[in-house]
Amino acid sequence: MSKQRIETICVQGGYHPGNGEPRQIPIVQSTTFKYDTSEHMGRLFDLEASGYFYTRLQNPTNDSVAAKIAELEGGTAAMLTSSGQAASFFAVFNIAQAGDHVVSSASIYGGTFNLFAVTMKKMGIDFTFVSPDCSDEELEAAFRPNTKAVFGETIANPALTVLDIERFADAAHRHGVPLIVDNTFATPVNCRPFEWGADIVTHSTTKYMDGHGAAVGGCIVDSGRFDWMAHKDKFPGLTEPDDSYHGITYAERFGNAGAFITKATAQLMRDFGAIQSPQNAFLLNLGLESLHLRIKRHCENGQAVAEFLAGHPDVAWVRFPGLPGDKYYKRAQKYLPNGSCGVVSFGVKGGRQAAEAFMKELKIAAIETHVADARTCCLHPASSTHRQMTDAELAACGIGPELVRYSCGIENAADLIADLDQAFKAAKKAQ
Ligand code: PLP
Repeated sequence: MSKQRIETICVQGGYHPGNGEPRQIPIVQSTTFKYDTSEHMGRLFDLEASGYFYTRLQNPTNDSVAAKIAELEGGTAAMLTSSGQAASFFAVFNIAQAGDHVVSSASIYGGTFNLFAVTMKKMGIDFTFVSPDCSDEELEAAFRPNTKAVFGETIANPALTVLDIERFADAAHRHGVPLIVDNTFATPVNCRPFEWGADIVTHSTTKYMDGHGAAVGGCIVDSGRFDWMAHKDKFPGLTEPDDSYHGITYAERFGNAGAFITKATAQLMRDFGAIQSPQNAFLLNLGLESLHLRIKRHCENGQAVAEFLAGHPDVAWVRFPGLPGDKYYKRAQKYLPNGSCGVVSFGVKGGRQAAEAFMKELKIAAIETHVADARTCCLHPASSTHRQMTDAELAACGIGPELVRYSCGIENAADLIADLDQAFKAAKKAQ
C-alpha cells in the first residue's frame, strides 16, 4: 500500500487488529504478564525476545498508541511517558549525563526551562540557552566539546516563537549531536520536524494530541536517522555495553532505528518508572483519532481571533505566527504552511490590572493553566504561573504584565470574538 496520509494515520495508525479481535485498542489493565517458563522470561529480560513482563517498562496499549505517533511523525520508534515533562527529561537524559552539556533555545515552555536550568543542572548537566533568533556565530559559540544535544520547540509556549529547525539541525549535526524538538504546539499535522532535519521529537500529549483535557501524558519519537556509532565517543550509553543490562550495546543490537527508544525503555523506564497509564493511553488515542480535524479548527479560530485582536483599540500588541505582520510569519510560512496552532498571545492596554479586569469578564474562555484544549481557555501569566516575578523580571523574559495567553478551542470563531468584544466593553464599564 502507498504511504498513508496524516488524516488516515490519525484514525487508523498504530493498531491493526486481526480477525475477530477488538476494533478499538484494548486497555491492557494489567501490571504484569504470565509466562510458562522462566527461560522464556529470561529471553525477554535479555531483550532477545519481544514481549511484555511489567507495565512499569512497557504495556501493549501504550505501544499501539506510541506506534501511531511514530507513524504520524514519520519516525521509527516511540514511547509514551507519564507527562510531557517526563518526555523532555528522558529525551535529554538518555544521551547526556553528569559532566555533559546541552544547547537549548531560550524560548521554551517555562516548566522545561526550569527542568533544564535548575533540576538537571543539579544532576550535573549544564545548559547554554540561546535565542531562537541568535546569529550563526552566537549559535556556534554555544557548543562545547562535551555538548551532547540541541533542544528547541517548533512553536514555543507561550512566546509563540518559531524555531528555524533546519538551521538548528545543521548546527547540531556539524557538532555530531542530535537535534531534539518539542513539537507539542504544532503537532505532526502542521509540522513534521524530521522532514527538516530533527532527530528526536518530544510531545506533551496532554495538549492538542489528547485535546480534551482528560489525560496528562508525553511521548518521545526517534527518527532513526542519527548515527550513534559514527559519534561513538560522545554517546557511550548507546555505543558501549550497558552493565546494568547484561552488557547490551544498544546501537549495535538495535541499530539507528531502535537504539534510542530501546535504551530509554530498558534503562530509564526501568529506573524512573514514569510510564503513561494504559487508561490514559486509551484516552490519548481517542484524541488522536480526531487530531487532524481539531487542529484545522484550532488554527482557523486562532487566525480569526488574532485578526480581530490586531484591530481592537484596547489591544496593545498581538503575537500569532499566522498574522502577516508577525515577526515569525515568514518562518511559519516555511515550516507551518497549513497553520500554526490555536494559541494567541496579546497585550491588553493598561497593563496588569487591565488584563486581569478583562479576563474576569470573559464568559466562554475559562481561566486555566491548561492550553491547547477543545474548550477555549486563557491565562494571565503575570498573576498565575509567573506571579513570583517582578514586572522587570517579567519584561526580561518577554512575558509582560499585560500579556494574556488565549488558547482558541474548537467552538465557533464568531462566538469567541463576540465574547472577547463584550469582555473589553464590560471591563471598561467596570473601571
Ligand atoms: N512542552 C510544552 C511545549 C508544553 O506546553 C508543556 C506543558 O504545558 C510541556 C512540554 C510539559 O508537558 P506536561 O504538562 O504534559 O508535563
